Amino acid sequence: MRYCDNTEVKFVISALGVSDILFLIFQVKQKIPIYNSKRNKQIGGMKYSILADFYEKIEKTTKRTAMTAYLVELFKSTPPEVIDKVIYLTQGKLYPDFMGIELGVAEKLTMRAIAIVSGLSVKEIERVFKKTGDIGLTAEQILSQKKTSSILDYFGVSETRRELTVTRVYLTLDKIAKAKGEGSQDAKINLLASLLRDASPKEAKYLLRTVTGRLRLGIADMTILDALAISFTGSKVNREIIERAYNVHPDLGYIAKVLATGGLQGVKKIKITIGIPVQPMLAERLSNPQEILEKLGGECIAEYKYDGERIQAHKKGDKVVLFSRRLENITHHYPDACELIRAYIKAEEAIVEGECVAIDPNSGEMLPFQELMHRRRKYDVEEAMKKYPIALFLFDCLYVNGEDLTLKPYPVRKEYLKKIVEESDKIRLAESRHIKSVSELEEFFEQAISEGCEGIMCKSLRDDSIYQMGARGWLWIKFKRDYRYEMTDTVDLVVVGAFYGRGKRAGTYGALLMAAYDPEADVFRTVCKVGSGFTDEDLEKLPELLDQYKIPHRHPRVDSKIEADVWFTPAVVLEIMGAEITLSPLHTCAYGAIKSGAGLAIRFPRFTGRYRFDKKPEQATTVKELIEMYRSQRKTST
Ligand code: ATP
Repeated sequence: MRYCDNTEVKFVISALGVSDILFLIFQVKQKIPIYNSKRNKQIGGMKYSILADFYEKIEKTTKRTAMTAYLVELFKSTPPEVIDKVIYLTQGKLYPDFMGIELGVAEKLTMRAIAIVSGLSVKEIERVFKKTGDIGLTAEQILSQKKTSSILDYFGVSETRRELTVTRVYLTLDKIAKAKGEGSQDAKINLLASLLRDASPKEAKYLLRTVTGRLRLGIADMTILDALAISFTGSKVNREIIERAYNVHPDLGYIAKVLATGGLQGVKKIKITIGIPVQPMLAERLSNPQEILEKLGGECIAEYKYDGERIQAHKKGDKVVLFSRRLENITHHYPDACELIRAYIKAEEAIVEGECVAIDPNSGEMLPFQELMHRRRKYDVEEAMKKYPIALFLFDCLYVNGEDLTLKPYPVRKEYLKKIVEESDKIRLAESRHIKSVSELEEFFEQAISEGCEGIMCKSLRDDSIYQMGARGWLWIKFKRDYRYEMTDTVDLVVVGAFYGRGKRAGTYGALLMAAYDPEADVFRTVCKVGSGFTDEDLEKLPELLDQYKIPHRHPRVDSKIEADVWFTPAVVLEIMGAEITLSPLHTCAYGAIKSGAGLAIRFPRFTGRYRFDKKPEQATTVKELIEMYRSQRKTST
């Protein structure tokens, strides 16, 4: 909105008519808020300012426990009918990730909305943005300097601002996210401006960060589950029941609403549903075939460990949806995989899992994982399908025609899988063998390697070999090729800080501070500083990739003895290889667990070139895994 000058004010007054003016003056004198009846029709409920205050507190805290306590306080003061919206907004989204509806309005566009409300030009707004580097701070700064801007403000009546509610913010952002096609840009700008008009500067800050997809408070799903258990059941004791529901239906907004309205009994009734991804089961790792067999009770089903992308396919009639390892909807990346599922899975309804592998169209040989990255480009999928065709290797079956199979032992699930898959050269069951001795296991491993696989997956066939949703357990053990060399394996670590580069690297980062995840404490503990393995191209894009996560102090969920030049919200995962794992007093990973006064560190770490965008920070290598790697490395070297 532009500022009104005096001529305009006179014009508006003349248009109002005498009775309107008398009424206005009466209201001003009586200090009665003047309402535009249309604009101020209350969409009832919780105020958005409560959320903005909460975000501010979370941003300032450096303690994980305080984070949970603030969340509990927030959930307790939230009416059940908006608890889902409060949770989504707090996570900077509108829906769970698997719905694939993203907020991510370009900063440039939001500046036009700020311009409408402030009366400043986009150029002036850009100038402020250049200084702050944050569109939220830009809006906050500009709106707190906003001058009289309307006829009503001209009369000195500031109460005309209609306080924002959570529902109104959510519904407006939803419209923004869904606006498509011709005229959608203007629609988005106007919708955003309608919120900004009624927003306080602080609210504007968080609105802008949310709408641009940059509200990164770094609150993990697990922290929210803790807070939900405490808020609605009084203690963390019931957390396990809530977590099971979350594993079956990983939608925190939905879980919270069921809990808030139907209690624990409601949560217990949550079932596996076609179209809603299930948290994937994960594997432990060992580097000694003897140990693997002992762990699995002397026998196992060993399968090829394919080097591709994990896919969870949901089929209902002709409709197929694919989910990634981190539960994103990746259906549109693989139209060919959908077609294979549609044509070769002989069940009306099914949820199956497998690895999608890139195949050399000329030789038919399997290609490494990196070749699948072509599928991530939005517009070239057709092209990528021709150049880099895929094959599907299925290894599990979670649901068939209304029957939940997750509590059945693995051999039974495999029987179901065999029954429903009509195998062809493009869709097959993972190559497998029933193993009863170390020599059989070693032989199968060599065979897998020679065929271009990463190694083998050894799976329990005992009665308790259920599908452990969302858990890394000993029912599946991976045995990989690189265990035989260098460190026992690559690790996936989270970037938590950085150090400025010098000389050739001036202007970018010289090294990154990397951390492993500790799920017990829900914190990231440092394990190395990595500066090698980055190509010039990597170095160039690091600031662009990382700066969106920059924060002014160490994140509350990061445990570090080292002071980094720059700190980040844990978000980006990189694959790291090293010479060996050593003890070090500088790092906090497994501090005191092996030797007092020392943690674990990776010696000569280098980036392998693999950005693990498919992993959330909570899916990085854990502290426990590093301890195991350290121990098994010691065993093999002595
Ligand atoms: P993780 O998924 O265990 O966190 P990661 O993503 O680094 O770790 P790996 O350590 O390489 O993956 O091993 C697990 C992955 O192996 C599975 O998530 C799956 O994508 C893949 N995989 C390939 N073949 C199989 C198989 N036969 N059974 C199960 N998983 C398999």
